[in-house]
Parts: sequence; C-alpha cells; structure tokens
Amino acid sequence: MNGHPGGGRRIALIAHDNMKRDMREWAAYNRHRLVEHQLFATATTGRILQQELGLDVVCFRSGPYGGDQQIGARIAEGEIDLLVFFWDPLQPHPHDPDVKALLRVAVVCNVPVACNRATADFVISSPLMGRPHVAPIAAPAPDATEHLDRPAGRVA
Ligand code: PGA
Repeated sequence: MNGHPGGGRRIALIAHDNMKRDMREWAAYNRHRLVEHQLFATATTGRILQQELGLDVVCFRSGPYGGDQQIGARIAEGEIDLLVFFWDPLQPHPHDPDVKALLRVAVVCNVPVACNRATADFVISSPLMGRPHVAPIAAPAPDATEHLDRPAGRVA
C-alpha cells in the first residue's frame, strides 16, 4: 500500500446487488474514514456512495459490463491499495469469471482484500491505513522475471 500523492489510500469498492445494503451501511458507518482516501468503485456501487453518502468516487463500468476487469487492471498496475469487495456468496453471476480474476490478481499483487463487513472494519480502522509511504502493508508485486525468461520449449 503506497498511497497516492494527495494522501490516504486508493480504495476500490464493489458490492453485488444482494450486498449493496451491506456496503451502504458499512460505508455510512465508516464515512469519516473513507473521506480521507481516494475512492474508486464499479458504476452502481459508486453511484450509491456518491448520491447517498456524498462521497467523492471515481466510477468505472458496472461489474457485469467490465468494471471488475477495469479495477483488476488498476490493481495489476499498482494503482489500488485496498479492495473492499462484498461479493454475493449465495448467487451465481454472469461475470463470475471476472470476480475470480479480480480476487486472484489482488492476491498476486498482495493487495489487501475485504470481502465482508467484519474484515472491512478491521482493515479500514487499522493504524496502517493512516501511514502513507511508511511501513507499507503490501510487499512489491512478485518479480515475474523468471516466468518471462522461461525457455520457449516449456511454453510451446
Ligand atoms: P455495480 O457492479 O456496482 O455496477 O452493481 C458490481 C457488480 O455487480 O459486480
């Protein structure tokens, strides 16, 4: 977690439809903390946070229309410090492959992921959230050199 030039962390927020109430309540409870960070979200989640809580949020596409992939790409680029992703454990979704890919790239890049309110509460209230550029939680993304330099015979 390296923070961003304006201070605070770069937090991506996503909630599936059945989890939007959780996100709304969690974000309202933690609004005083969230305003200290730079927020990103998928379209509908972001609109709720903007309109109902007055938060400043950069919105991507809706999850089923590529929003998860947009956030995953930013994680791969090292542009997201924390993912709060309230995915629905009880319903299948048309973009389940995107959900899996997003969770995977977050783990690869050692980005903290909170998938329920309890975990999100622990993370957002961590003292480490308030220490941009100091004692980063996340290690650098793994070095892919060995993977990229593997012999062509092994990838044919
Ligand atoms: P949404 O997308 O915030 O636009 O609803 C989230 C999702 O369903 O993945």
